[in-house]
Amino acid sequence: MCGPRARAFLRRGGWAVILAANVAIKTTGLIAQYLSIKQKVPDAILFFRLGDFYEMFFEDAELASRILDIQLTSRSREGAPLCGVPYHSAEPYIAKLLRAGHKVAVCEQTPTAATRGLMPRQIVRIITPGTVNDELVLSADEKNYLSVVLPAPEGFALASVDVSTGEFRVTQLGNASSLLEELRRLGPREILAAPQLGDLADRLAGLPLTRLDDSYWDSRRAAEALTQRFGPPNPALSPEMLAAGGVALLYLEQTFGAEMAHLRPPELYRASQYLQVDEVSRAHLELVVSSDGTRKGSLFSVLDQTRTAAGARTLASWLLYPLLDIDAIHRRQDAIEELFDADLGGSITAALSQIGDLERLVGRVASLKAGPRECLKLRLALEAVGELKSAFGGFRSRELERCAADLDPLPDLVGQIAAAVSDEPPMTARDGGAIRPGYDAGVDELRALSLDARSVIARLEARERERTSIGSLKVRYNQVFGYYLEITKAHLERAPADYERKQTLVGAERFTTPELKELERKILSAESGLKELETELFLKLLRAISAHAGALARTARAAGELDCLASLAQVARRRGYVRPIINTGAALSIADGRHPVLEANLKRGEFVPNDLEIDPEERQLLLITGPNMAGKSTYLRQVALIVIMAQAGSFVPATRATLGLVDRIFTRIGARDDLRRGESTFMVEMRETARLLAGLGERSLLLLDEVGRGTSTFDGLAIAWSLAEYLHDRTQARILFATHFHELTDLARERPRVKNLCMAVREWGGDVVFLRQVVEGAASRSYGIEVAKLAGLPDGLILRAREILNNLEQGELDANGMPRLARGRSRGGAQARQMDLFSPAERRAIDELKALDPDRLTPIEALNTLSRLSAVLERREKREEE
Ligand code: ADP
Repeated sequence: MCGPRARAFLRRGGWAVILAANVAIKTTGLIAQYLSIKQKVPDAILFFRLGDFYEMFFEDAELASRILDIQLTSRSREGAPLCGVPYHSAEPYIAKLLRAGHKVAVCEQTPTAATRGLMPRQIVRIITPGTVNDELVLSADEKNYLSVVLPAPEGFALASVDVSTGEFRVTQLGNASSLLEELRRLGPREILAAPQLGDLADRLAGLPLTRLDDSYWDSRRAAEALTQRFGPPNPALSPEMLAAGGVALLYLEQTFGAEMAHLRPPELYRASQYLQVDEVSRAHLELVVSSDGTRKGSLFSVLDQTRTAAGARTLASWLLYPLLDIDAIHRRQDAIEELFDADLGGSITAALSQIGDLERLVGRVASLKAGPRECLKLRLALEAVGELKSAFGGFRSRELERCAADLDPLPDLVGQIAAAVSDEPPMTARDGGAIRPGYDAGVDELRALSLDARSVIARLEARERERTSIGSLKVRYNQVFGYYLEITKAHLERAPADYERKQTLVGAERFTTPELKELERKILSAESGLKELETELFLKLLRAISAHAGALARTARAAGELDCLASLAQVARRRGYVRPIINTGAALSIADGRHPVLEANLKRGEFVPNDLEIDPEERQLLLITGPNMAGKSTYLRQVALIVIMAQAGSFVPATRATLGLVDRIFTRIGARDDLRRGESTFMVEMRETARLLAGLGERSLLLLDEVGRGTSTFDGLAIAWSLAEYLHDRTQARILFATHFHELTDLARERPRVKNLCMAVREWGGDVVFLRQVVEGAASRSYGIEVAKLAGLPDGLILRAREILNNLEQGELDANGMPRLARGRSRGGAQARQMDLFSPAERRAIDELKALDPDRLTPIEALNTLSRLSAVLERREKREEE
């Protein structure tokens, strides 16, 4: 009785392992050994080598079986939950666990000659999501950062390394919020947080944290490690940045390994050098991922025509870090303009496709982790680099010139790889056959020897057949018994006397001879010698390539940038984008702007373009009214996306755009309940609003959509109104304020820099048609019922709503500004009618009258009371006359 996994296990000879393991448990306690090793890596999944399998136990087994979708069994003796994967194909399983954000500790058997009883075991590798460069684990178009956070005198130091590409960046953030923002923008796979972070520790919860023991956090040791690798540090880096970078380095050396020739020295950057789009806005705008968490439907997906993974990563990073430096923006624009008119087909596309993920390939080679096939890929990529360099050689814009200059096809290195690596190399050098014939005399000699020995064996076989007259005699080889002569039972009596019996099978007998033994020794030593020599030569080659890691990494980066620029140019041309004028002014002026993603999803000509004119002097706050579904939030988003694209250096979907630099974009778009945190929509909305008010500066662009929707109409209107006033009176930010409260349009009469825009709507026999056009002026009404009709509510319901609306519109506001229900049609109870009939002042008058005790009034008091009460009635009469 056993399950499919167990059956497969037994087929592979696993029974022997089970037997051996069971014996071991009885005497020495395998589980005890497991537990003592597991204790050292509490936050990693322990892959515990047991014969041909890596086994996982207890919680690790339960977790891994779920993620890997493998069967969970239990060890009969201890009842311990157990699952396992074959050791020789463990990599994909490890990759899957890492992708799910887990760490894996690999524990191997380490027997010695003296081993008796329980097999000694120890952890040989800890693999973590932030310290890998294996294709199986990485996402091609995403960076794979490991980040380190350390407290600094003013805020926090943050170091981030992507060991797959060698990128290493450090910065300082002023407070916990900006640190968290930056972490969310980077999206590290793993974060090492210093122990002394205080309150911040709680706010980091939910992020992929790794706890390190205190020895790592010795700042001096960390900084020294950095100096040792990269030489004297850049004086602009603070001691905390150096320490953070050093911790990252030490951790990488421990987990990934010390070979990192591709790692660049830490580069200083500041979040304030880039247009800040906070996490909430980034999500609203669907910059690099859409609301479903994938690239599909994001701005990135529309702009991405890249051919290489490095190109795609560059594009994503440009969108996440739009520039504030006009000159740098111009450089990208010039390049795109030049490429716009160029023919990007043919050779450039082909060369880029062949380059593949050169950046990560270089990382694999420089960390000595690459196999022979990756070296071959590198050679092909470098050959393509040569073509790319000549294709880009003729361009004159600075950025293209710089990139082309950075491209180094390293012809000598290509020659070296071509000479050393065979045309169809195996996965690893140990598999044999990696080294090209003629490259190394030693390899050729050993190969000849083993080849020769084989023909000697063949000759021996023929000779023995003749000598024994057994036509079926064979010389064979297996792992356990080596070479042998096999004679079937039927011919056994003809076995010569000098044959030594080696093994007996059911139908045959296996023998050896002194001559065969000697041959075997020669063959095996030639083969193992060959393996060793090939491995050694290959490693030498990897080191030789690593010596060029700097030039290779520069080349790879330049190819990625060219790819990204070519992609932007191609999309600009295909979709009719224009080069925006970027200046230091404050006005934003866009003619015929389009929403890049929506436009891409519609048929040509279906998207209705819209203009924008906004500036802090005259038109600071644009109040956009119009019914739901009219296109308000699309308009808001398109403005933000155009600004971001422009500052990323891209062309923009418009016929003309002049844009004064924006340094922060805030959005409050759409109402999303954050149920996870148990907060109501309204609370979230107000919290976000508070957050963005706190951050507004004079170069900010603020997009507000439907503020105050999550509460009662009048609360909402009141908040929206006072918010608009506040923004106008107290800030210089440029603001787009979309609302379905058309009452707000009155604000334009009171505040000079508030301008009304509305979404044009055509009424057509009781229906509305959305024109999707933004026009000057205020919407006359909300068209809610028409929208409800469009949405397919039943006719009767719509009819009744119209009737009620009609009644409401004919009614007046009471003293509270509350609309009265329809006269004579009120269906409310007596109380509702009372509420309807009396204003609060009148109600107070009635109450006062009721509570009056005439016996206790002095004549003067009685007179005063009477005149007050009659004044209330007078006011009412007056109102009714009006
Ligand atoms: P609102 O914010 O006013 O409720 P949306 O911006 O969500 O409206 O737009 C509603 C729908 O109208 C969008 O999903 C889109 O399909 C369409 N739409 C919006 N703007 C345009 C436009 N300029 N051209 C074409 N279709 C548009």
